[in-house]
Amino acid sequence: MSMSQDGERSAELLEEIRQLLELNGENPFKVRAFEKAQGVVSGCSDLKKRAQAGTLTELDGVGKGIAEVLTEFLLKGQSTVRDDLKSKLPAGLLDLVQIPGLGPKKAKQLIEELGIQSIGELEYACRENRLLKLKGFGEKIQAKILEGIRFRQSTQDQARIVEAEPAAQALSAHLKKSLGSSVRVELTGALRRKLEIVDRFEFLIEEPKSGAATTRSKAQEALDSFLKKNPAVLKTFLHFSTADQFGYEWAKTTGSEAHWKVLGSPASFSVKTEEEFYSKLKLPWIAPELRETGEEVAFAKKGSLEKLLPQDGIVGVFHNHTNQSDGTATLEEMVEAARALGYRYIGISDHSQTAVYAHGLKTDDLKEQEKAVRKLQEKYDDIRIFWGVESDILADGELDYSTAQLKRFDFVVASIHSRFKMDRDQMTTRLLKAVRNPATRFLGHMTGRLLLGRPGYEFDTEKVIEEAKKCDVAIEINANPARLDIDWRWGTKLRAEGTLVSVNPDAHEVEGLKDTAYGVTVARKALLPKTQVINSREVKEVEKWLSRK
Ligand SMILES: [Zn+2]
Ligand SMILES: [Zn+2]
Repeated sequence: MSMSQDGERSAELLEEIRQLLELNGENPFKVRAFEKAQGVVSGCSDLKKRAQAGTLTELDGVGKGIAEVLTEFLLKGQSTVRDDLKSKLPAGLLDLVQIPGLGPKKAKQLIEELGIQSIGELEYACRENRLLKLKGFGEKIQAKILEGIRFRQSTQDQARIVEAEPAAQALSAHLKKSLGSSVRVELTGALRRKLEIVDRFEFLIEEPKSGAATTRSKAQEALDSFLKKNPAVLKTFLHFSTADQFGYEWAKTTGSEAHWKVLGSPASFSVKTEEEFYSKLKLPWIAPELRETGEEVAFAKKGSLEKLLPQDGIVGVFHNHTNQSDGTATLEEMVEAARALGYRYIGISDHSQTAVYAHGLKTDDLKEQEKAVRKLQEKYDDIRIFWGVESDILADGELDYSTAQLKRFDFVVASIHSRFKMDRDQMTTRLLKAVRNPATRFLGHMTGRLLLGRPGYEFDTEKVIEEAKKCDVAIEINANPARLDIDWRWGTKLRAEGTLVSVNPDAHEVEGLKDTAYGVTVARKALLPKTQVINSREVKEVEKWLSRK
């Protein structure tokens, strides 16, 4: 530490301790003392000397306690007081209070009452409307917290596709406007492949054969002016190409490394379009989102890309919530929304009783809901309403509700919502048991991960995929852009086993039904044939599949 740094860094430490004291609920005088000392300390040029001589207490506002803290820090480069305070805090508190609008008191309440330990979990809880019924919270506060989380995420160096896409569109529009309508600007890179998380934006810009330098400097200026107004935008890379080479460059900047390698890393040649590029390689055009592992090239060669689930290949959707548990829309609103999207069936599955935080349904509520669903069905002949449940997988692998009750549902989604921290073997056993339960038709958000939020729990994924095949259980592709779980990287295994999957929106509001599109992208990236996606099938076939319990 140089001398001037000593003062600044010491003041930072005091500020850190002040915050920790506050979070620990220590007495306000002590908290204020750590605040007051900061000014003196940061302006003092001989701190270290004073620490060595034991004269820190001569400074205004530096008492014995603070002097001890500073001495340890200045001479040994550590702080026991800070570390102790940190270890006393409930897990997650330090993270949660980073969210604008979330103070220590409310953060503690969230930890205690909802078991939230990370920002990712908090965001998900907001989306599932779990904050609404807490004392002192309400719709406004929940919305404000969600906004705070979004703000924080937007200032980090990674983004999920749901946040990245609109930001990239805005930037693209700005580039186009600045360069003029005759200049071609295309999104490329990982976001064009619709990867679930990206750390950069990439664009390919057409430049003229002569005067390329002008286009380049204009584009750079446009980017700089955009960044000035939107400092939180991800790292952005601009690529340039003449019209003659555009097809080649677009393919090269879009495909993953593995994709490009399997194509044989072709040296540059002149082609205006990607179709021409692939056709030169004797391949049909490969959709950008498929260009990941390289396996897709073999699919293209065999002509089997057409067998994949198409983007519009979903016929109906399972796993949707209503305001009976933690959704915001009524049963009828959800059904109407599904009709409006052209779906031929919708599966309603609210939370089960163990999920108390989500207002899981008690046995009596179920009777009522069953009646309501059957009654509403009479109103429609163009959409089938399946009545189901998202049953909690309990710690021992059993499902919520009695066997008799489980049999009454048209379908059961079995999901884990608690006890994430089991050892790998226990968790595998738990999941296998749930899969083997004859009531289970779908395994919900299999790994429990929240993208940029929390990793999934540990278990033997291969075994569960194999068991699901044996038991004719569909593994969910949870289409919520915060989950996208099961991951497309399991595609090879899923295909090898022939395990069914189901693209489920897990909608908690009407708008959530549209998340299905993200799930379809996952199925496509996994190169899953349409036949392996249960909800690409017509009503009759699905009914038949469901009835085999
Ligand atoms: Zn769930
Ligand atoms: Zn759900």
